[in-house]
Amino acid sequence: MPRAASTCSVLCLCFRLAFRILLKISVKMESYAAEAKFDCLLFDMDDTLYPLSLGINLACRKNIQDYMLHKMQIEESQVLGYDIDYDDFHACVHGKLPYEKLKPDPVLRQLLLSLPQRKIIFTNSDKAHAARVLEKLGLEDCFEGIICFETLNPSTEQDANEQKDADEADADGGSREGSDDPAPSRRGILCKPSLESMEAVIEIAKLDAKRTVFFDDSARNIAAGKAAGFHTVVVGTSALVEGADVALESIHNIKEALPELWDAAGEHVEAVLRPAAVETTVLA
Ligand SMILES: [Mg+2]
Repeated sequence: MPRAASTCSVLCLCFRLAFRILLKISVKMESYAAEAKFDCLLFDMDDTLYPLSLGINLACRKNIQDYMLHKMQIEESQVLGYDIDYDDFHACVHGKLPYEKLKPDPVLRQLLLSLPQRKIIFTNSDKAHAARVLEKLGLEDCFEGIICFETLNPSTEQDANEQKDADEADADGGSREGSDDPAPSRRGILCKPSLESMEAVIEIAKLDAKRTVFFDDSARNIAAGKAAGFHTVVVGTSALVEGADVALESIHNIKEALPELWDAAGEHVEAVLRPAAVETTVLA
């Protein structure tokens, strides 16, 4: 056989083989999606994707106290009932955090990328803080989406304006009788640990709570997550809290504690890990 024809045959054979392998992986992944016990992983971010010991939480608490005392001249315990400019609040509280303490976490990145389920961040923080933390940890492309303060409270600014108009109408002798809906800005902010926030996330992300694993470092959030129907994992402690199905000292222990998340994935994990390993070798 001429050399050119022989080379062509070998190439065709390689392409056919590669196609068959890809087809096999694709079929496996589809059957995995149908068989898996869980199809979504919902992660809190602060003190869950990085340890409490970094001191970000401590700095955040201090910034909140400073904001209350210096900007609002109130104690933190008096905050209920006060109208807050949340953009200013987040800029002051989160904008001044020691972000330099957060370092890229390639181990967690590899763990997340090897998980075949949907992965979503659910944080009470604002989107600017969430984006900055994920970027610092090197995890910005590991999640399908971020549900943050602005997601759950999209109309805060509009509500504030409506409240101002309503207050002005009241001052002019106007009446809002006939409506049992509270004034918009007094409805309160939607955030963890309220059950309503969990239900909002289920609706926004179109989750099946029974097939969702919820990771959080807060005992109160875990209890609310359990009430919403999630499989719950408390992170940052080896002791179970009320409503927690699993306790993880560190998010890095996820594979040891929840191997079933990978067991059913089969060839998907190998498909994800193998190219990454090759890439690392080539780049090095
Ligand atoms: Mg947290």
